[in-house]
Amino acid sequence: MTVHLEQKSLEAFLEAVQKLDAGFRGLPAFRSSAPGSERMAEALAATAERLHDNYPYFHPLYAGQMLKPPHPVARLAYALAMWINPNNHALDGGRASSAMEKEAVAEIAAMFGWKEFLGHLCGGGTIANLEALWVASQMHPGKKILASQQAHYTHKRISAVLQLQFECVPSDARGRMDLNALARCVAGGDVGTVVVTLGTTATGSVDPLPEILGLRAKHGFRIHADAAYGGYFRLAGNLGEQATRSLERIGEADSIVIDPHKHGLQPYGCGCVLFRDPSAGRFYKHDSPYTYFSSAELHLGEISLECSRPGAAAAALWTTQKLLPLARGGEFARGLERGRAAALIFYERIEKDERFAAAFRPELDIVIFAPRAKSVSEMSTLSRRIFDAAAKRNLHLAVAEMPVVFWGENLGAIERDRETMTCLRSVLMKPEHLEWIPRIWDVLSAATSEVLGAEETSRAARQES
Ligand SMILES: *Cc1c(COP(=O)(O)O)cnc(C)c1O
Repeated sequence: MTVHLEQKSLEAFLEAVQKLDAGFRGLPAFRSSAPGSERMAEALAATAERLHDNYPYFHPLYAGQMLKPPHPVARLAYALAMWINPNNHALDGGRASSAMEKEAVAEIAAMFGWKEFLGHLCGGGTIANLEALWVASQMHPGKKILASQQAHYTHKRISAVLQLQFECVPSDARGRMDLNALARCVAGGDVGTVVVTLGTTATGSVDPLPEILGLRAKHGFRIHADAAYGGYFRLAGNLGEQATRSLERIGEADSIVIDPHKHGLQPYGCGCVLFRDPSAGRFYKHDSPYTYFSSAELHLGEISLECSRPGAAAAALWTTQKLLPLARGGEFARGLERGRAAALIFYERIEKDERFAAAFRPELDIVIFAPRAKSVSEMSTLSRRIFDAAAKRNLHLAVAEMPVVFWGENLGAIERDRETMTCLRSVLMKPEHLEWIPRIWDVLSAATSEVLGAEETSRAARQES
């Protein structure tokens, strides 16, 4: 029988559990009394059964949404830490994993060229962005937050939660923040912070950071870089010129968000927020009467909005970065480069095939396209059919709703009867995608021919009747 789910790493795991156990040798023996242990296998089997109801995210033929399997070492380090269940809120609850968090976060900050900074892990990009916008609002009280139309919707919602004024800056035909529009928005002097998205969630478009830095020099707003998705591409050597020059200057932002649980090979529950000025820590100040007794050293709960947090997430990240350091040209960087290369090859195949209309050339590893038809609404209908036909053949793409302007001149004489296109989206995040592109293409091609063939037949039938 073919094995799809990696299991070999479990051998190293048992060894690690024994090693961890040996560290507590001095304690008197005791028997853990978890109830129901003898029925555990049965309960777990039921869970395995239930979990079948998922797309196969771990497989290269899953090429749809933004989902990437964690590295086996991250999975196991997380599980190993579960025997302790440390809480990174305070050193009393998680001494070792708090130290690991500080080290791992320092390595992420170093990737952006920061040595002195303030930062920590948190539940994900949403909480990380919330903390960044909250600090931004403390620094510039009463001033507006701006983000582009293609920025993550979370910024608008977070601004509402924090009761901050929010304004949307139009995006251009490649999903990047429109600079002329931004210049107009900041001219009034009432803008406190501009959210610059380095890798939009929908299309991986990279906002033009160098020009926005130029505007900051003139107007004095803060820049928050939302690099939840794209931050790790700072390490990739095969991006286009525009994305490269924006990511190169990310260290000049005032705050940065990056999601280790997106491209950092981590299980969900791992976001990261960084502030260039460590004095941002003053806003978090509180005096809890009961949590911090063990030392004068920094407790992470003193610089984080969330209180209890999984030390296991820090252990997983620390272990992954120990195995695969965040270095340009290293194995980790090569993994990102492979996904990026896969996206380019896939894009070029789509572009050359007259059955498809490609949107703009991808800046990271996300490809957007649609099948050609007489009108945008017909293309939209066909996109959904191809999505279904591909899924029946085990190829899982995603369906997305995108502005028609993303297709630019590529639509030719096609009737633009809608402002948005329901299209196909493929996020090629896994290194394995590179060698699987020919296979992915064959399946997509067969599914598309089937759908277009059926369309042709029914059109002919309609004309005859
Ligand atoms: C994913 C994402 C978010 C939200 O992060 P979560 O980890 O899903 O909470 C915010 N901004 C960008 C650019 C993202 O890609």
